[in-house]
Amino acid sequence: MTNTKAYAAFSHQSPLAPYAIDRRAPGAHDVQIEILYCGVCHSDIHQVLNEWGNSHFPMVPGHEIVGRVTGIGSSVESFKLGELVGVGCMVNSCHHCPDCEDHQEQFCNQTVFTYNSIDVDGSPTYGGYSTQIVVNQDFVLHVSEKLDPASVAPLLCAGITTYSPLRHWRVGKGQKVGIVGLGGLGHMGVKFARAFGAEVVLFTTSPSKVADAKQLGANSAVISTDPEQMNQHLASFDFILDTVSAPHNLDAYTSLLKRDGTLCLVGVPDHPHPSPQVGNLIFKRRQIAGSLIGGIQETQEMLDFCAEHNITSDIELIPIQKINDAYERVLKSDVKYRFVIDIASLKSS
Ligand SMILES: [Zn+2]
Ligand SMILES: [Zn+2]
Repeated sequence: MTNTKAYAAFSHQSPLAPYAIDRRAPGAHDVQIEILYCGVCHSDIHQVLNEWGNSHFPMVPGHEIVGRVTGIGSSVESFKLGELVGVGCMVNSCHHCPDCEDHQEQFCNQTVFTYNSIDVDGSPTYGGYSTQIVVNQDFVLHVSEKLDPASVAPLLCAGITTYSPLRHWRVGKGQKVGIVGLGGLGHMGVKFARAFGAEVVLFTTSPSKVADAKQLGANSAVISTDPEQMNQHLASFDFILDTVSAPHNLDAYTSLLKRDGTLCLVGVPDHPHPSPQVGNLIFKRRQIAGSLIGGIQETQEMLDFCAEHNITSDIELIPIQKINDAYERVLKSDVKYRFVIDIASLKSS
């Protein structure tokens, strides 16, 4: 066991505060990682506030982890001491169900999530708001030294959450693709859809985000609360990726899909969206779909694609002592576009 500095929420009503956890010594198949950076995901806030009703406290959030290998178990062959690595939303799964065999571990019934989950040994999992973590080698990712490691951290959740559906629905050249929302997820969706060769339209409620969207790679931006602007795009999209987690009217977007187009949701609302109009789907064989992060193999593919195409997240680096302020600002959409915690601030505290 290694005593490890961390920040935890002790209830859904208390601010995050310093906490000490024990990490296991690396077993034969484990990689021990000194954490350098951890992104602040909106789902950290949902879970700290117990908005999904499944929170366990104390909770150490954080599933956008980049660090360096400080220890390896005797059966670990593909990681070396000192190597830059990443850990995303999962730290284990059953390894042998149909989902795991298809490299879709996120859909396994026994997925162990990086925090707020129960590990294979029965202990609670604690995430990346901490100075080190020990993870089964099959859930550790290789990170290129070519990219800024702090800006890589959000790729481990926001990156794969947008990359995976854009790949699954084969978004590419000649297609018109919409991205709804310009937050941590949306800004990565814009970057990937553009990198895959699509025409990209960003939907936002904030006129102030139009210029930013274009700078990030969107061909155009639409104010989603303006019916006139929305009507100009009726039945014209091949695919729309909706990153907004607040409940909202989905019909506004299904109406914009071509025949056989797909609206894919990646945000989990705390209350249901209003029921979509079935007629809107039937008359053009449109689909509403969902997608959850991506498997480990695809997460590695995404990280390699980012290294090759020089893609990272736009971040604001903060010391961990500012985490509660950062949560307030995320709730006001006042971040461009992801907070990342510099874990050096926790080591020296
Ligand atoms: Zn996340
Ligand atoms: Zn499985």
